[in-house]
Amino acid sequence: MDRVCRRPWEAYVEPFPMAPGVWFIGGNDWVACYLLDTGDGLILIDTAMHESAYLMLHNIYKLGYKPGDIKKILLTHAHIDHIGGARTMKELTGAKLYLGERDLEFLHERRDLIAGDGKYTCGEFEPDELYDDEKPITQGNITIRTVATPGHTPGCTSMFFDVTDKNGRVLRCGIHGGLGLNTLNREYFIEKRQPFSLRDEFIAGLKKLDKFEVDICLPSHTNQVGILPLVPQIRDDFNPFIDPSIWHELMNERLQRVYALIEKEKAN
Ligand SMILES: [Zn+2]
Repeated sequence: MDRVCRRPWEAYVEPFPMAPGVWFIGGNDWVACYLLDTGDGLILIDTAMHESAYLMLHNIYKLGYKPGDIKKILLTHAHIDHIGGARTMKELTGAKLYLGERDLEFLHERRDLIAGDGKYTCGEFEPDELYDDEKPITQGNITIRTVATPGHTPGCTSMFFDVTDKNGRVLRCGIHGGLGLNTLNREYFIEKRQPFSLRDEFIAGLKKLDKFEVDICLPSHTNQVGILPLVPQIRDDFNPFIDPSIWHELMNERLQRVYALIEKEKAN
């Protein structure tokens, strides 16, 4: 989770396209949720907060879809700002729900790690499937390759898939499952009794993902790459989110930040 100063559902964000058939629909300006039109049903990536699920539902209808069109819900990691709406969305859609296996502990034994400091609600739910990086997830014409990227949470999962624009150009979309350093500092590890090795796994994941080529970086929080200011530039023949350099810049920015954190802790 990143810090938030006000209730995120107070700033309604209309749905907008990030890529052909890929919509930003979270309804708030803090957490990203993506709706993928596969040509044979929808895939939803992340569910934001329980309290903002109403805005997401509004956006689903606004795009001309119905909740029942959603066939699969993929969760990046078990923090309140990504899974808070999971129970609601599963109940409304009947979709198959996916989560990273190592985050099951959050649901079953360590609900304190779901976090939110009591500010937000998280209904109980069970995933139907756990990610297997050897088994891509296919719905309609979209196939999502998952990559376990432990660190921000142990079960944090990144996702990659291709879409094709109207000119036949294939565009790779990528989302890193969780980039917040708030769960990767010494105080957090000690207070929450989490292993310091999560930080090493986080670094290894960033280095691994930096080798991927991604045309459109889908951030899990809007401020990671500043997508909202680009929305007014969207045109039928221009997608301001296509920029293969952004993915690498984001991976390397986080690497530098985690290295700086480690150096700071050494100095203290
Ligand atoms: Zn998180």
